Amino acid sequence: MATPTVKFTKLFINGEFVDSVSGKTFETVDPRTEEVIAEIAEATKEDVDIAVKAAREAFDCGPWPRMPGAERAKIMLKWAQLIEQNVEEIAALDTIDGGKLFSWCKAVDVPEACNILRYYAGAADKIHGNVFKTSRDLHLYSLMEPVGVVGHIIPWNFPTVMFFAKVAPALAAGCTMVIKPAEQTPLSALFYAHLAKLGGIPDGVLNVVPGFGSTAGAAISSHMDIDAVSFTGSTETGRKIMQAAALSNLKPVSLELGGKSPVLIFDDADIDKAVDLALFGILHNKGEICVAFSRVFVQEGIYDEFEKRVVEKAKTWVVGDPFDPKVQQGPQTSKAQFDKILSYIDHGKSEGATLLTGGKPVGNKGYYIEPTIFTNVKKEMLIEQEEIFGPVMTLSKFKTIDDAIKKANSSKYGLAAGIVTKNLDIANTVSRSIRAGIIWINCFFAFDIDCPFGGYKMSGFGRDYGLEALHKYLQVKSVATPI
Ligand code: NAD
Repeated sequence: MATPTVKFTKLFINGEFVDSVSGKTFETVDPRTEEVIAEIAEATKEDVDIAVKAAREAFDCGPWPRMPGAERAKIMLKWAQLIEQNVEEIAALDTIDGGKLFSWCKAVDVPEACNILRYYAGAADKIHGNVFKTSRDLHLYSLMEPVGVVGHIIPWNFPTVMFFAKVAPALAAGCTMVIKPAEQTPLSALFYAHLAKLGGIPDGVLNVVPGFGSTAGAAISSHMDIDAVSFTGSTETGRKIMQAAALSNLKPVSLELGGKSPVLIFDDADIDKAVDLALFGILHNKGEICVAFSRVFVQEGIYDEFEKRVVEKAKTWVVGDPFDPKVQQGPQTSKAQFDKILSYIDHGKSEGATLLTGGKPVGNKGYYIEPTIFTNVKKEMLIEQEEIFGPVMTLSKFKTIDDAIKKANSSKYGLAAGIVTKNLDIANTVSRSIRAGIIWINCFFAFDIDCPFGGYKMSGFGRDYGLEALHKYLQVKSVATPI
């Protein structure tokens, strides 16, 4: 696949590609080469204001919230079709922008965007309220109405899936929106805006404002005329967004935040399968996954053998150009992320953990890092507590089921957890005892759009996916009339 041409580099507001008010631009960089791919118009507060005005006008006076759900669905389905016709090009954009494996983007992420659109298109004409039987002489019923103008703030690790996980249910609900992709990966979002227009989404309904968190992002979360914010990103930023929402118009927020997910591998596990699962769990998407199995706990009976085999296999992991189909791990998304991961690795070494393999950059160009495994890790160490968001596993032993549960829960996060065992009793007991939003038994990264996804504890609240996500973008109005 040849490097794609970048066609869309301006803000998308009110159905048009426009320059930013300030004329400012920012660079987006190819993490394989460290070269600039494109200069992107940079949205600041003024641009967000213009985008919100367009979205408000489209919400208050435009056809989108008023049209029958089936009509909205038709347009969403058309958009999905157009995306399908451009799968290769969009997948390549996410690869050059974020270092993601091209084969994965093409086979999974972009098709998933279409699936998400189709799922919520199917729900758009099934939104209804209730009629209440009362003891009074009243006709009393409720309506489900779109929440209004929504702000979506998106991270860089899954630019496509995160975009649609937020945009599709909001569209189905009849909302209009302002979307801020991450500054590291704005390219596919702008392409999607172009296809949305071709698909028939009316002007002003969907606005895309690439820019930085502290300016464009903050302008969205503190905006007095945005009715709700849906955010995916770090816990630290989630806190700022919630604060900004509280200090402005008290808009509801939903926060999909960070994780430090454990996987518990029991003595009865097939060791080779468990090794594959643990490595996929931490190295998929170069560890830049909120649900990554970054803490691996292995029961003492198989620990030594597991450690030997996981290290051997990690050493064979293929790191390189994400367009190469043989490659298993591409570059980290940005220089900042690359530096952050290496600094965590230094911390691990200086805190006294044992480095079993990896720990260094790969090559001298691009943001590549070796698959890295630490053992002799203590609970208090930074590498055991903080989300590294890179290809860094910590490996520890446990004795009993209770010990495993205690270790799994010993984190401020609660996004995901894994259990590897053939014993159903263990799987059921442990899955009920771990405080996390999703539990994977003998698997990793298994999702379905119909199944809600989100965190416990400091991994946030609110759910993407499923009908629960649709309800984030709806509000209930009760209507009473005497009879
Ligand atoms: P981040 O919080 O730095 O940025 C996420 C988005 O927020 C970006 O668009 C950024 O520009 C914006 N932002 C930054 N500061 C802001 C501010 N003050 N106000 C408003 N917006 C602001 O996170 P990241 O580094 O892009 O993404 C990695 C994080 O995302 C990890 O912690 C990861 O676990 C998390 N994540 C969570 C999920 C989930 O579903 N729970 C999924 C993917 C990623």
